[in-house]
Amino acid sequence: MFKALYLQNSPEFSCVEHNISKEELLKEEGDTLVKVHYSTLNYKDALSITNSAKIARRFPMIPGIDFSGEVVESSDPNLKAGDLVFMNGMGLSENHYGGLSELAYVKGENLLKVPDNYNPFDVMAFGTAGYTAALCVNRLLDHGIKPQEGEVLVSGASGGVGMVAIMLLAKLGFEVVALSSKVEETPFFYQLGAKRVEDATAFYSDGGLLQKSRYQAAVDVLGSIPLANICAQLNYSGIVAACGLARGMDFPASMAPFILRDITLAGVDSVLAPKEKRLRAWELLSRLISSKEITEQIETIDFNEAIAVSKQIIDGTIRGRYVVKIA
Ligand code: NDP
Repeated sequence: MFKALYLQNSPEFSCVEHNISKEELLKEEGDTLVKVHYSTLNYKDALSITNSAKIARRFPMIPGIDFSGEVVESSDPNLKAGDLVFMNGMGLSENHYGGLSELAYVKGENLLKVPDNYNPFDVMAFGTAGYTAALCVNRLLDHGIKPQEGEVLVSGASGGVGMVAIMLLAKLGFEVVALSSKVEETPFFYQLGAKRVEDATAFYSDGGLLQKSRYQAAVDVLGSIPLANICAQLNYSGIVAACGLARGMDFPASMAPFILRDITLAGVDSVLAPKEKRLRAWELLSRLISSKEITEQIETIDFNEAIAVSKQIIDGTIRGRYVVKIA
């Protein structure tokens, strides 16, 4: 038997710590058994654990879209017992038992090896949030953004994606503007590398179809009206990499900035991103952000604190990221 968080929907939704048999786990599709050392709490995990959105596609389900740990046994020719590995997304906690668990059973081809300059804790300190930030930044770089061509806006600055996006863009020499509802955290944003901080609440109401051009690019995690306002404030040929929906799934925008300013709205998905994109994102993280720099922004919590912290994440009241210590 091993311990995991367990979601059930009958007779009603519940999320509890539960003992599960290894036989049950081995019914999942896979070829590699991993002893999980760490998992993490992303916004999506919080949605799942608090039943705030339909993340699990079947029940019962183990939540957790990420995990890191050590291979116990594998029939994948590229893996052996003792290898340090991790996984982000690929259906974990949706249609495959997830990472908030002492054991995981997955396909070896979906695992990545922990980069040389990181350990299993570090990769979960980034988690899907940090890796998605890197996907967004790579998308902006592919568009051709340049440090001398203006400011780059990052929304949800106090959260996982926003925090890492600020760090990456600042290290690449960009002038980063942190957009946050927590302006009192300004010293923290400066410490991450932001040059300026803007109050996100000013973006929560419609500011008009076409507004003053202010940013060459943006990373957005809010969606909805804030995303429409960001589009309306991009410079000519600007781009926003949009990956989140913390303010809503809708997009009440107009075509004006698209056809009058040639802007691009680039959607970014981490869950099914192909392996080359994943490896490129992790290469960017490991080249630019040291283990020390990421881990000093992280809180570590125990398994049994995951439910309470998830509620705070949904309320948007906490700062930074949480690694869950499993083993
Ligand atoms: P976090 O919870 O760490 O941070 C989200 C931030 O958004 C908060 O810190 C807050 O920033 C702001 N926020 C949160 N809730 C609200 C709210 N109700 N109203 C206004 N602002 C809010 O989340 P992550 O950084 O992990 O994820 C951010 C978004 O990106 C989520 O929607 C998540 O689902 C999405 N995501 C998408 C992925 C993909 O593959 N496309 C992968 C990873 C994440 P502040 O107070 O500073 O403004």
